[in-house]
Amino acid sequence: RSAALLARQERRESNARTYPRRLPIAIADASGSFLRDLDGNTFIDFLTGAGVLSLGHNHPELVRAVTAQLTRLTHGLDFPTPAKDEFTGAQLSMLPPGMRDRMKLHFCGPTGGDAVDAAIKLCKIATGRGDVVAFQGGFHGSGHAAMALSGLVSQKRPVRNGVPGVHFFPYSYCTRCPIALAPDTCDVNCAGHLEQSLRDGNGGVAPPAAVILEMVQGEGGVIPARREFVQRVRALTRELGVPLIVDEVQTGCGRTGTWFAFEQYGIEPDVIVASKALSGIGVPVAIIMYDERLDVWAPGAHIGTFRGNQLAFAAGTEAVRIVRRDDVLGNVRRRGEQIADRLAKLPNNPWVREVRGLGLMWGVELADPNDGSPATALAHEVQSAALRRGLIIELGGRGDCVVRILPPLNVTAEVVDAACSILVDAIDECCL
Ligand code: PMP
Repeated sequence: RSAALLARQERRESNARTYPRRLPIAIADASGSFLRDLDGNTFIDFLTGAGVLSLGHNHPELVRAVTAQLTRLTHGLDFPTPAKDEFTGAQLSMLPPGMRDRMKLHFCGPTGGDAVDAAIKLCKIATGRGDVVAFQGGFHGSGHAAMALSGLVSQKRPVRNGVPGVHFFPYSYCTRCPIALAPDTCDVNCAGHLEQSLRDGNGGVAPPAAVILEMVQGEGGVIPARREFVQRVRALTRELGVPLIVDEVQTGCGRTGTWFAFEQYGIEPDVIVASKALSGIGVPVAIIMYDERLDVWAPGAHIGTFRGNQLAFAAGTEAVRIVRRDDVLGNVRRRGEQIADRLAKLPNNPWVREVRGLGLMWGVELADPNDGSPATALAHEVQSAALRRGLIIELGGRGDCVVRILPPLNVTAEVVDAACSILVDAIDECCL
């Protein structure tokens, strides 16, 4: 039955579709960490709607919150409503204490890319400048502007007349150092490149309107930034008066073990972008939170029909309550350690170049042991082998050579154990 739907989809839908090509199933229903296809097969879902379903599928309390809101009010543009007021309070309350009172919130529309666009626009208006600095391998969305900031080039290569004024700099990707240095002696020279350019204007980089950075590159292949790198970027941008935008679309809402990943890097950004897991149940919403000094835009400067999704607000408030009540962040850290433990021996396999992650965001980078080139075909085989054994996983990274998992944040130890066994077996099966 899955095959029939896949065939119909192929006839009727866009050629740009992705997941069903690599994970050829049609979804019937789902619950918690599990998903069922139309043929009755059950899978552990460690893709979770690309990191959206942070409390698993159909969390009963989130379903209740959405259902109750459904009969009250569904769409409210940017009028104040109790649901929005509570959501705003809940989001601000999750910020580190020093930031709560000075951050303002802007509702951007349904997707992460919308919020990235809003963040860039705000910083351009606030600084009166036009250029933006982004990092190699980063990902910020598929719309024209967000795509232009993304350093994964496959999407944007065929698109002519891209957004001007975007400058890319090396990211701290130590496994494949972009400037061919060794991590223990490099003095974080990747950040040094940015520093030199911004200070001296080398390479034609004008003082930028913003620097946009992921704490862990997700689509880029689960690459946690080095702490010294992030701190140098923060110190530099602060010194030069350049707003630092931290894109927490994937890392945010508890994914890395703190509400926002930047908390683990000892920095405070000027702008935070969040979306995916905000509602916890896949009702779309995207926001930016920014320092009040940046609140310069005129009324109507950034609008959007779908910035008042009351269902998302109701679910998002409830999700925050559950995360606090159930110590979900503690679970993320404990399950993260469990995964680190279970995958620790994988690098004994010559095709496994590195296992890395933070919280419940993990990646296994596969590379040809002979020349270190990305083992793309192998990663695809591992994904298929895992699916056959009942586990749904994601790929990412340069050349799609990183096998990625994004479990629900409230996943149990037993499910993590079962999923890790499948993953290890799938890698063993394919990487001989
Ligand atoms: N930023 C990051 C870090 C992301 O991972 C993504 C989505 N994978 C986006 C932005 C774009 O979000 P959306 O697809 O909802 O526009």
